[in-house]
Amino acid sequence: MERQFTKEIESLRLGEGDTFHGEGILAVTKALLQSGVSYVGGYQGAPVSHLLDVMVQARDYMDELGVHVEACTSEAAAAAMLGASINYPARGAVTWKSIVGTNVAADALSYLASAGVMGGTLIVLGEDYGEGGVVAQERSHAFALKSLMWLLDPRPNLETIVQMVERGFELSEASNTPVMMELRIRACHVQGSFAAKKNVSPAISTRSKLDGPPKEFIYDRLAHPPATFRQEKLKSDVRLPAARKFIVERRLNEVFPGTENVGLIVQGGLYNGLLRALRTLGLADPFGASRLPILALNVVYPLVPEEINAFCSSKKAVLVLEEGQPEFIEQEISTFLRRADVQSRLHGKDCMHMAGEYTAEALVRGIAKFLAEHAPHLDTSSGASWLQETKSLRERAGALLGALPQRPPTFCVGCPERPVFSAMKLVAQDIGRPHVSMDVGCHAFASFEPFSQGNTLLGYGMSLASAAGVGPMSARRPVAVMGDGGFWHNGLLSGVASNLLNRGDGVLVVMKNGYASATGTQEIVSTHADRTIEDTLTGLGVKWLRTVDNYRVGEMARVYKEAMTTPEKGLKVIVAEGECQLERQRKLRPQVATKLSKGERHVRVKYGVDEDTCTGDHSCIRLSGCPTLTVKDNPDPLRRDPVATVIDGCVGCGLCGENAHAAVLCPSFYRAEVIQNPTVWDRLVRKIL
Ligand code: SF4
Ligand code: SF4
Repeated sequence: MERQFTKEIESLRLGEGDTFHGEGILAVTKALLQSGVSYVGGYQGAPVSHLLDVMVQARDYMDELGVHVEACTSEAAAAAMLGASINYPARGAVTWKSIVGTNVAADALSYLASAGVMGGTLIVLGEDYGEGGVVAQERSHAFALKSLMWLLDPRPNLETIVQMVERGFELSEASNTPVMMELRIRACHVQGSFAAKKNVSPAISTRSKLDGPPKEFIYDRLAHPPATFRQEKLKSDVRLPAARKFIVERRLNEVFPGTENVGLIVQGGLYNGLLRALRTLGLADPFGASRLPILALNVVYPLVPEEINAFCSSKKAVLVLEEGQPEFIEQEISTFLRRADVQSRLHGKDCMHMAGEYTAEALVRGIAKFLAEHAPHLDTSSGASWLQETKSLRERAGALLGALPQRPPTFCVGCPERPVFSAMKLVAQDIGRPHVSMDVGCHAFASFEPFSQGNTLLGYGMSLASAAGVGPMSARRPVAVMGDGGFWHNGLLSGVASNLLNRGDGVLVVMKNGYASATGTQEIVSTHADRTIEDTLTGLGVKWLRTVDNYRVGEMARVYKEAMTTPEKGLKVIVAEGECQLERQRKLRPQVATKLSKGERHVRVKYGVDEDTCTGDHSCIRLSGCPTLTVKDNPDPLRRDPVATVIDGCVGCGLCGENAHAAVLCPSFYRAEVIQNPTVWDRLVRKIL
C-alpha cells in the first residue's frame, strides 16, 4: 500500500494533556493503545480498514510499545487469534467488516464465546448496514444473541467511542466474555476530538513475553465436550449477571432526562440522527437538550431488565428506535416489561419501518406518529412542514430533471480488470453467454453495464464454489471470476481444492492485480512474490493454467476462448495479470511530480478519438465502459449522433487501442504522446513535423 498515514501515526503517539482531533475509527485505534492492548489483528473492509492500515504502518511504534499487529488473511484467522486471551490476561482486539466478516469468523467466535476469556477481547465491527452499505443487509446483533457475546453500539461522538473501547475491555474481563463493538459508517467517519491519555505498554507483550503455557492446566478452558456443557451454563448463570452488574455500576448506558412522560429508547449509534429528528420536530435545542427523555443504549446486548423497567415505569408510553430487522431489542424489552408488570405502552416497529436505515426523515415521521397517539399536546408541526418541504423539493427536482439515468459504480480509469471483461464480452459474441459466478471485489463492477456479467454473488472467494452446482447442469462451461484477494481469503480452498477433489470442470479467471484492492489496496501474500498464485495452483494439481497480460485484449480473448472450448476436462485457470491502476498511479504520481519539478522530460501517453472518423455507433464505449471514454456533440452540422471522445483523465492504459484492434472497430482511435519539459530535440522534431 502506497498511501502513507504519517499524520495518523503521529496522533497515535499523543499523551496526557494532548487533544486528539480526527475521525471515529482512528479514535478507536488510539483508545486500544490507551487500554493496554497486547495484540491487534483483523481483515480489511470498509469502514474499519483504517484501523488496521494505520497500525500496520505504525509497526515501529507498536514495537516500541510491545504491541503485536497481525494483518490476518481472513476474519476467521483474526477471530481465532483472540484465543490468546483465553488462557492469558492479555488484551486483544480484532476488526473486520460486518455482517460478512462476522459470518466468516463465526466458527472461531462460537468457540471463543464458549470457552470465555481471561484477558479482555474487543471485536470492532464495521457495521455496513443501511444506505451506502455494500454487503448483504443483516445485523451483527444476531451473532451476539446466539453466542452470548456482548454488543456495544456507542453514541457517535469521539469521547463516548473512546470510553466504550476502554470500558469494553473491562466489561469483557469482568464477565469473561468477548465484547463486540459495532460502528456504523457514519460513526467511523465522524470527526471530533477527545482528551488523550498516555498509551499503556501491555504487561504481556512482544517485549515482556510469557515464560510458557499456564502453570495450571485447566481443561475447562477448551471448548470441547464435556467442558462445553458447563460453559453453556456459565454463560447464563455467571457471565450474563456479571455483565449486567458491570453495565449498571459503570453506567454504560445513558439516560437523558426530559420534561414529558413519554420516552425514547434508542440504539446508541442512532443517537445523533435522533437528535436531528427531535430538533426538526421542535423538541430539542441545538445543544441536544430534549423534551422527551431518552435512554441511549451504548450496550445493546445484554440489556439490563432493571434499567429498562426503571426507565419505562415512569412513562405513559415508550418508543424503541432499533434499526433493521427483526426487532431483537424491542422484543426483549417487551418481555422485561411484561414480566415486571410495567404498564407503559411499548411501541417500535409499529411506528417505524422494519427494514432499512433510520434516516432523519424516517425518524421524524415515526416519532410524530408515536407522539400523535401519546402526547398530542406537543406541537410537532415544524416536523410536518419539514417533511412536506422535503417531499416538494424531491418532486420539483424530479419534474425539472426527469428520470435520471442510474450511475452504477465502475472500475477506476485504466483498471486492468476492464480489458478482461471486454475480452469475455467479445468471446461471448462467438460462443454464446456462459453462466458467470462473480466474487466480492472490484471485478464485481462488471455486473453493471456495459458488461452485465455476473449471474451470482455468494461471498468473498466463493465464486468458483458457487459454480459447482451450475456446471454439471450446463451445456456451456461456467465461468468463475475471482480477485487475488478473494483467492487467498477463501477461494483457494473453497473453490479450487473442492473443484479438484470433485474432478470438476469450468473456467476460473483470477484477477492478479497484486492487492486486496476494493478494500484500499492492502497487501496480500502474493503482492511481492511474482508466481505464488501460479505455483500454488500447479502444486495443488491444476493442469490447465495460463497467465495473460490483461491489457492484451486479443490474447486474452484467444486464451479465454480456448479455455471455454477445449475438449480437455478439468479446471481451467486463467491468471489475468495487471497491477491495480489505483495503486500504480499512487506510485507514479509523486515520481512524475518530482521529475517535472526538476525540469526533467516526461512523456505521458493519452488516447484520443478522431471526431471526423468516428461513426457515432459507440461500440467502443459498450466494450470498455471507461469513464474517460465518453461522448460529445458532433462537430459536423450534417451529423446528429454524438461522437466518442477521450477526456483529460485518460491514463493511457491502452485498452482503447486494444479494443479497436481486437473488435475491429472503426479506425478513429489514435495514441498521442504528451511531452512535458520537452528537450531542444523534441522542439526541433515538432517544428520539422
Ligand atoms: S482499485 Fe484497482 S482493481 Fe479496483 S477498480 Fe480501481 S484500478 Fe481496478
Ligand atoms: S486508453 Fe481508453 S480505456 Fe484506457 S484510460 Fe484512456 S480512455 Fe480509458
